[in-house]
Amino acid sequence: MQSTKKYDIVVAGGGIAGISAAVRAGSMGASVLLIEHYPFAGGMSSAGMVSPFMKSVTGGKNLVLGIYKDLEASMRRMGGMIDNGFYSWAFRSAANELLTENGVDIQFNADVVRLNKEGQRITSLDLMTPDGMKRIFADQFIDTTGDAQLVALGDFPWEKGDEKTGKLQALTLFFRMAGIDVKKTAAYSKEHPEDFLEWMDFKYDFSRIISIAGYKGLIEKAKAEKRFPEDVDYVFFTTLPESGEGAFNTTNILGIDPSTSASLTEAEKVGHKQVAQVVDFLNRDVPGFEYAYLVDTAVQVGVRETRRAVAQYMMTGDDILNGAKFPDVVARGCYGVDIHGQKGEESRMDDLEEGAWYDIPRRSLRVKDAENLQVAGRCIGATREGHAALRIQPTASATGEACGAMAALAVSSKTAIDKVPYEKIEKILTHNIA
Ligand SMILES: Cc1cc2nc3c(=O)[nH]c(=O)nc-3n(C[C@H](O)[C@H](O)[C@H](O)COP(=O)(O)OP(=O)(O)OC[C@H]3O[C@@H](n4cnc5c(N)ncnc54)[C@H](O)[C@@H]3O)c2cc1C
Repeated sequence: MQSTKKYDIVVAGGGIAGISAAVRAGSMGASVLLIEHYPFAGGMSSAGMVSPFMKSVTGGKNLVLGIYKDLEASMRRMGGMIDNGFYSWAFRSAANELLTENGVDIQFNADVVRLNKEGQRITSLDLMTPDGMKRIFADQFIDTTGDAQLVALGDFPWEKGDEKTGKLQALTLFFRMAGIDVKKTAAYSKEHPEDFLEWMDFKYDFSRIISIAGYKGLIEKAKAEKRFPEDVDYVFFTTLPESGEGAFNTTNILGIDPSTSASLTEAEKVGHKQVAQVVDFLNRDVPGFEYAYLVDTAVQVGVRETRRAVAQYMMTGDDILNGAKFPDVVARGCYGVDIHGQKGEESRMDDLEEGAWYDIPRRSLRVKDAENLQVAGRCIGATREGHAALRIQPTASATGEACGAMAALAVSSKTAIDKVPYEKIEKILTHNIA
């Protein structure tokens, strides 16, 4: 087993939460290592091809700035982001740029496979890498693996799925098509509004990203002819203005627990089969898609929900919908409870009123019973409903950034993470909480 230098902070998982944690900690002078399974950063934002960024502005108030805005600015500079939509390649490049500028060491192609601890204090992580096993020592650890891998490996407490039924949200394999006659398909939607989802207002501005969701009548017919996936009820895509390109958040993979290898393997098979059927349907049946073609599918099936850490405070659905405020706020959000229903479960989208937001307390990032472990992003300490709101990319970035700031403060003041005075944290995170 090789040992590397000791780091101040190790961040496990290089999705948007981990990138934001590592960049913020690096910018504060801490020595930071970011560990990532893939040979690139981004997690769901790149391997999952997830775009666009969901809502983080309410009543004109911008709730998430900081690293999130730095990522956005970098992607816009390189021509990889329009409105709130972006390309995966741009996300990967922007992440590399920011991590490098802020002195973060990166270990791609590395899987955390073991966690070593003394009592409730983590001492090191063991990684499997192409050049062998490595042991990495640090003072502070941040779990941004999406799956709460460190929490699970360390036998710290976690939860998974709906508290009563155990159900986990549906999975989606993103794909991208080009050659779409967007104006033609938009005109079709205006002529058949009953076939489209209720939230659509059909007021298209083709100089901006537009979203279309529906084609329900055409789908019904294709389903009757057994050439459309049974579990998919509508086609949803967002376009890039004037480009004829669209990103499709359409496949709907049910009955899968994405925290197991066997289920994820099955999900890949089902996802790719659904993509082929949906593309064929669009080409054959939908005006505007006659000459459209599949450009790419995401590297992996998109996973919305697996394990969540049990934290010192668990954010609830009521906290979200009532706009809870906390004295130890470290991040904020305004996105509502969004559950993509599993088999036998209704989907839910409960929004907050425009202008309303909720606080996220530092306690929901502190894993219960663990001395030096925080969580951010998709594995944050929340109930299933709370998680269904907090999981989106801007909020994941804000919670990651908060963890990075708190870990760096703990290291610089040589104190336990819970002993860092809130006033110090507040000062560093003003842009996201004032
Ligand atoms: C289908 C789908 C649609 C979505 N739509 C939207 C949307 O439109 N807008 C929006 O804002 N959000 C959306 N979301 C939510 C959002 O994309 C994710 O919740 C968010 O990106 C999660 O970020 P994260 O950094 O917490 O985790 P992830 O992006 O999951 O990153 C975790 C990283 O950890 C790595 N990792 C895991 N285990 C290990 C290990 N043991 N060792 C090393 N590395 C490891 C993984 O490879 C991964 O890169 C969607 C999600 C899905 C799945």
